[in-house]
Amino acid sequence: MRPMERAIPATLLRGDGIGPEIMEASLDVLDALGARFDWDDQQAGTGAYERTGDPLPQATLDSIRKTRLALKGPLATPVGSGFRSVNVRLREEFKLFANLRPAHTYVHGGRFENVDIILVRENTEGFYVGFEHYIPVGDDPRAVAEGTGFNTREGCRRIAEWTFEYALEQGRKKVTIVHKANILKVLTGLFLDTAMEVAERYRDQIEVEDKIVDNCAMQLVLNPSQFDVILTTNLFGDILSDEIAGLVGGLGMAPGGNIGVDAAIFEAVHGSAPDIAGKGLANPSAVLLAAAMMLDHVGEQQRADLLRDAIERVIDDDGVRTGDLGGSASTRQYTDAIIKRLREA
Ligand code: NAD
Repeated sequence: MRPMERAIPATLLRGDGIGPEIMEASLDVLDALGARFDWDDQQAGTGAYERTGDPLPQATLDSIRKTRLALKGPLATPVGSGFRSVNVRLREEFKLFANLRPAHTYVHGGRFENVDIILVRENTEGFYVGFEHYIPVGDDPRAVAEGTGFNTREGCRRIAEWTFEYALEQGRKKVTIVHKANILKVLTGLFLDTAMEVAERYRDQIEVEDKIVDNCAMQLVLNPSQFDVILTTNLFGDILSDEIAGLVGGLGMAPGGNIGVDAAIFEAVHGSAPDIAGKGLANPSAVLLAAAMMLDHVGEQQRADLLRDAIERVIDDDGVRTGDLGGSASTRQYTDAIIKRLREA
């Protein structure tokens, strides 16, 4: 395929642990696809903390503010540094209110075939705001722990409108709104009611249903094919997105996009996998699939589809799989197999 005419400015965060290995693989694959990005290589995570004293240096924030687009490796938040999660800070800084987590079957022969679920998680509100504290009783300073979440009507409306527009654009047929409004009647009740109001405007085009989160979790492992698009709150989305990753081969196959008002940041759902870092064993598929989402985002759908197809062919037809998928290929061997497929396409 002919290279893109114009290179698109984007920020690159190689990340911690397995980050540099899987990001290197992604750069090589994007190169083979003729996908041209004008990368601004910046730092974040533990590596950045060790070098600059801040896991999210100002130069990195400035870069993302300028490019409004980033491909990000997994970041470890330095323990005991007093810094909040870098990932949460990035979401707040760039108002990345939509967390898009698709799960699609690329590894065939598992428990489920043809899983194709898009989960949209509200990314900035709910229990993730982390307003919590201890209440002392008698001589126990941590006798009671109290935590508060909040959802705003505006935030609920924004994520619901984004989800329905995205579902339409992707030709999806059904949105399932997932909540716990039977118990958390106010916090998730507002989410459900507002999402239902928005859904009303799309009634003619998209089927809508709602499910309580515990039932949804069970239904996902009983019959995932009943789900198309899931719209849910921050905490439930965090948990359910790992569950749907488990339906399609695990974290090594799960990409994510954080999309917002000021920027879009694409990443693998998994962390820095310190247990296998530096060994050349990591599965780069999740970050490759995140790169495909980034290509979709910049209007390069055809290249994105080519990449997704090459991943499926390599895993399925060529039988080249990394250890987490039961194979014995190294990160490099797997990456080279993808590049070979792309060159033949
Ligand atoms: P993890 O996702 O790093 O690892 C969990 C397990 O999955 C490990 O056994 C690991 O080897 C395996 N695994 C993960 N990705 C893999 C891949 N691509 N190929 C093969 N195996 C893979 O979770 P963890 O160990 O709980 O967290 C490690 C660090 O990552 C922590 O500091 C955590 O805060 C951070 N983290 C960052 C992000 C992010 O940046 N988005 C997400 C989750 C965790």
